[in-house]
Amino acid sequence: MAPSTLITNARIFDGENIIAEGGFILFEKGLIKEIGTVESSVTLTADITIDASGHTILPGLIDAHVHIHEGSIELAQALKFGVTTVLDLFNEPENIAKLKRESSKRPDIADIKSACYAATIKDGWPRPVILATMEDKEAVRFPNLGTRGAEYSGSLALVEHVTDKLEFSYIKLMHESGACLLGNPLPLPSHELQSALVQAAHKHGLITIAHALSQKDTLAILAAGTDGLAHSFCDEAPRDELLAAYRKYNSFLVPTLVISATLTGAEKPSTERFVRHPFVGKFLDSRMKTCYCGRIMMGKEGCKSEYSYQIVRMLNEGGIDIVAGTDAATGLEGTAIGLSLHQELSLYVERCGMTPLQALRSATSTTARRFSFEDRGRLVKGMRADVLMVKGDPTKDISRTLEIGGIWRGGVALDMDN
Ligand SMILES: [Zn+2]
Repeated sequence: MAPSTLITNARIFDGENIIAEGGFILFEKGLIKEIGTVESSVTLTADITIDASGHTILPGLIDAHVHIHEGSIELAQALKFGVTTVLDLFNEPENIAKLKRESSKRPDIADIKSACYAATIKDGWPRPVILATMEDKEAVRFPNLGTRGAEYSGSLALVEHVTDKLEFSYIKLMHESGACLLGNPLPLPSHELQSALVQAAHKHGLITIAHALSQKDTLAILAAGTDGLAHSFCDEAPRDELLAAYRKYNSFLVPTLVISATLTGAEKPSTERFVRHPFVGKFLDSRMKTCYCGRIMMGKEGCKSEYSYQIVRMLNEGGIDIVAGTDAATGLEGTAIGLSLHQELSLYVERCGMTPLQALRSATSTTARRFSFEDRGRLVKGMRADVLMVKGDPTKDISRTLEIGGIWRGGVALDMDN
């Protein structure tokens, strides 16, 4: 059982706003028992008391787009960077079931939710990526519905198939023609199929989140009514109709700006700055650092990260929800699980005109609201004690999110020295 913990004298960002300067939070049995201003903390006691003067307390961060393929070691890495929950967007249900069992028992790794199989069609995305990254191409066990494309492309069997499995937390749609990528064009699911999948998902109380990497594919999947997009495109400047398309079904965007950067080769200097941060040196080995600074350069000529920044700026100013996510995966050049989320948030502020407060909401309360997570993403009495403590004020200076002074998952402190 985790000891009860009282943190005092802290600036408190509750996921939406700063609710106290010099406030306190008390957690017990994994949940937040009390939170508030300093006056009311004098009568509270706990097994452990921490004076957090000069620090800010915020909810554990949520990365809304990752891929966990190597197991709990990656969930451990996420947590070391203050990411207490990761949303996986493509995986095998058996793998996710195993990871969920582990994360329910181990407070030293991040919690995980997953879309598991993505709804795709035969030979559709992400087949080229999987083939490119597998060593033995003949031995590919294609981990999605592509192998059963014929079965699923003509029916709603996909949604019926997933809703009886608890491992599926939302439905991932694939709408990728390959328009902005080097390589051959890919077959696209029809508008009718995508619309039917969205409706069937909703009928079962699940939201959909769609992969699309070009403006054309993005507009098409928004027209099918998807709840969210898993990327911002980088092939063209956003047209005015994009904002209207997001507004039509109140869709949200997970920008994955670090993916635009790896597709286009952008942000090398800022990436190198992140990798030199002393905190990063503790948790990434040299191979991971090289990978993080690398670029996959799969974008066609003319692709620019600046277009992705324009999208985030346009949508944020237009009142569309921005949900922070990175697409980080072990071995994917330009990314590192955990660390990438900090860079992603800094890009929202430095390149897209979001305030630090808006950026922090995008990795906490906005995510919880859009994915209907009622137990996390905010610091409220009764919620999970997933808590991050950073030195300084990240609501004014977003680079402070990496000045991590403490991480608690379910009220259990992470040993930062191991
Ligand atoms: Zn992804």
